[in-house]
Amino acid sequence: MSVQRFQLRCTCGHEFETKLWDSLNVTESKELKGKLLSGEINQVQCPECQKKSYIEKSLLYHDMDQRLWVQMLPPTERSKWPELQEEYEEEIKKNSGIKKYHFRLAFGREELLEKVRIFDANLDDRIIELLKVRILNEDETLKAVSDAKVFFSRYVAQEEELHFSVTSQEKNISQTLVIAFQHYNDIRESKEHVETTTELSKTVCRGMYIHHSKTRVLH
Ligand SMILES: [Zn+2]
Repeated sequence: MSVQRFQLRCTCGHEFETKLWDSLNVTESKELKGKLLSGEINQVQCPECQKKSYIEKSLLYHDMDQRLWVQMLPPTERSKWPELQEEYEEEIKKNSGIKKYHFRLAFGREELLEKVRIFDANLDDRIIELLKVRILNEDETLKAVSDAKVFFSRYVAQEEELHFSVTSQEKNISQTLVIAFQHYNDIRESKEHVETTTELSKTVCRGMYIHHSKTRVLH
């Protein structure tokens, strides 16, 4: 775990020094995980005007129990994912102590928190991303929306349901979409996510950035 000191300037003009997190080991500190989920990590408050703001910077999330390593980067870096992936793969190769890990890249806090929710629910993020593509291609309303964002929210085991949040600024949409868990099982049984037999699964499920938006970036 590490923190770095930064000099910040608030919109009110006040300059102050603050500490920001570079990496979090949530196995060593459960408290930090709670703070991440509630949005307190890398949130700062100006001591002069009390204004709170979230500082978008890179952050490494490390869960030793789940063997999950997620490097979050600012959303503005998303289009550079192939180069970034190469860089991180080189770095990982040098570190032989972390084999059998799930290595992921995430762009922005929303993507990181989604990965945490998926792994906490013991689900496979590759299947979740394939499901998102289906949702975007098959939902009659969403087909016509160019800026639709779909994020996994939760798995309700009792009801055998997967909940996704769907938002679009263009169409002023903010809703929860519920699909049967059977769709997840269908993909798991077909092993499409592991064998990457289709163009779609080849694009979405390979590498460190496992995200349905890659299919759009490549078009
Ligand atoms: Zn201020």
